[in-house]
Formats: sequence, structure tokens, C-alpha cells
Amino acid sequence: MKKILQDLSYAELEALVLSLGEKKFRAKQLYEGLMQGKKISDITSLSKVFKEKLLETYENEPIKVKEKYLSADGTEKYLFEYADGNLVEGVLMKYKYGYTQCVSTQVGCRMGCKFCASTLQGLIRNLTAGEILCQILLVNGLHREEMLGRGKEARAVTNVVLMGSGEPLDNYDEVVKFLKNVTAEGGVCISARNISLSTCGIVPKMYRLAEEGIPLNLTVSLHATDDESRARTMPVAKAYKIAEILKACEHYFQKTGRRYYFEYTLIEGENCDEEHARALITLLKGKPCHVNLIRLNEVKERSLKSTSDKEAYRFLGYLEKGGLSATLRRQIGVDIGGACGQLRAGYLEKGSVTSFG
Ligand code: SAH
Repeated sequence: MKKILQDLSYAELEALVLSLGEKKFRAKQLYEGLMQGKKISDITSLSKVFKEKLLETYENEPIKVKEKYLSADGTEKYLFEYADGNLVEGVLMKYKYGYTQCVSTQVGCRMGCKFCASTLQGLIRNLTAGEILCQILLVNGLHREEMLGRGKEARAVTNVVLMGSGEPLDNYDEVVKFLKNVTAEGGVCISARNISLSTCGIVPKMYRLAEEGIPLNLTVSLHATDDESRARTMPVAKAYKIAEILKACEHYFQKTGRRYYFEYTLIEGENCDEEHARALITLLKGKPCHVNLIRLNEVKERSLKSTSDKEAYRFLGYLEKGGLSATLRRQIGVDIGGACGQLRAGYLEKGSVTSFG
């Protein structure tokens, strides 16, 4: 597989341009083109000879849209294909305050959570920093083209959530590089405050992340109130205890001043009775955190069931009464299907893709 230019920071790109005997200002033209989601071959400000030189080593089109689904509420769901044929998915949610894109960090996942479709075939491979960035560049580029065609100005992605397939902290180095490049001035320049990284709770990496100087919103998938039940749906719970996770979150808060978040997926008969609400209140009361309740997106390969809306609101009520800051996540794009990994899993099942891993 060829390398990709989107892996490089501006400084690295500049060094490359100079090493290829080009003038420094060419780096700016190249970077601008890439940040607009253009293929190398489509950057008109650069000479043909220079582009051909780049194309000997670098991939012209690292990512493509394989399928795109539009929801009645405006949400867009994408199945992206990388140069080696691997697929990941992404979602674009349109809010009044801006566009939020959910990105994937790995092809598949090896964490094995019982409710999640991303992990069904295990981990295929990590994505590079540039491959993650390309998901955003492509979506921005498509919107720009579409709006230009209508004589309107496009809106770009303003918020990013690392909640697609994969465990971001299991691909630590590339994810941190992505975070540095996506927040860099002059590029897509998304504020770290508008980025949420969701982890199943890989404690040592949470401590490391606190040292990176990237004040993002750290989110932990909790989904249970004691280690034993957590281990029933999340194998990672055998390695890291809830108490250790809470300590790491507290450390993150001390280091960054950012409050932290918990995701709690409501699973029928598993974690959403009043006793669970009480246990959650005991665990989290007084901490600088917020709880996001999620309704389980049922995955057909798994037997777990979602709660009813009524039960979900009842659970939320318990938490609020107990003094926790909590919300029930709005369900968006439900008509276009799916929790993390369901789109890719469905596509693989159809057998339309042969080259894998
Ligand atoms: N690996 C990261 C990011 C994964 S996806 C993590 O574990 O946090 C983001 C969130 O979606 C996680 O909280 C995950 O547990 C949750 N999730 C996965 N599958 C789901 C499903 N079928 N229904 C509801 N939430 C799901």
C-alpha cells in the first residue's frame, strides 16, 4: 500500500516539498488542496511533473465513498473504502450549532463488547492518522462541491466524535497524531473542545492522553455499575476496574480542567433498574461529569434487547433526582440504520467485497 500525504503535519509536508526540490510556497498550495479533500492529481496550482513525482510514493485517493445513506432528519451515514479495500463507517449529524462527524479509528475492533457490531469480526487493522482525517476531508469536500453546484456556501464539520468503529486508545499513536493534525491551525482546524474521544476505559492510555495537552472531551463507556456485570458485556472490564477508571477520569480533570463524560447504554434486564440508577448515583455523585444515556441499537447477531422509551426516561429521572447531570441521547438517523459497525457488517454479509485485511 502506498503512503498517504494526509498523514503528514504541515511542517512534515514542507520538509517533503523542499526535499523534492520544490519551492517552499508549494507546500502551502499542496496542503490547502489536501485540506479541501482534493486528490493530488486535482490540485491545479501544482505542476504536472511535481504531482507525478508525488504519485510515485503517495496514494492519489486514499478514501472513497462506497455507499451513502440519507436520513429524513438530515443525518448522513457513510460507508468509506480505503485504498486496500477495507471499509469503515461514519456518520454526519446536522445540528443548529454545526456539523458533528462521527469517525472510525480502526477497521473492526478487538475489544469484544457484546452489544457492538464493530467487533463481530475482530480487529482487521488500525487506521493511520491521515486515514482518519480523510474521513472528514472527504465529507467536507463533498458538501463543498454539492453546495457550490447550488450556488451556496457549504458548512464544514465543526465537531468530531471518535465514536465510530474501533477503540481509539487501542490505536493510541495514530489517534493522537490525528488529534494534533485536525486541531492544527491552517488545516481543518477543529477546536479540541469540540472533539469527544470515547474509550471503553483503557486506563494507562487515559493517563497518557492527559499529558498530550489536547483539551478534548474524554468519554468513557461505562454501561454497568459494578465490575462483575460490566465484564459480562465488556471483556475489557476484566483488565481495568471501574474504580481505576474513575481515578483516571479525575486525573484527566485535574490536568485539563475538562469535565468528563460517561456513556451508559440501556440494556433490558441488564443495567436499567432503579437499583442500577442508585448505584450509578453513588459512583458518580459530586464528580465533575455528565452521563449520556444511550438506547441500545439492537444488533441482530446479538441477543441483547433495548429498553422501552418509557423505561429510558424513568432511568433518566432517577439520575436527575439523585443529583447527576444526565441526558438521554436523541436518536438520530434511525431510519438509515444502525449502531457502530452495522453498516459494514451488513455490507460484508452481502458478500459484495472480496479484498479484506
Ligand atoms: N471503542 C469506543 C468507541 C466506540 S463506539 C468505546 O468503547 O467507547 C461509541 C459508543 O457506542 C460506546 O459507548 C459504545 O459502547 C456504544 N455502542 C456500541 N454499540 C452500540 C449499540 N449497539 N447500541 C448502543 N450503543 C452502542
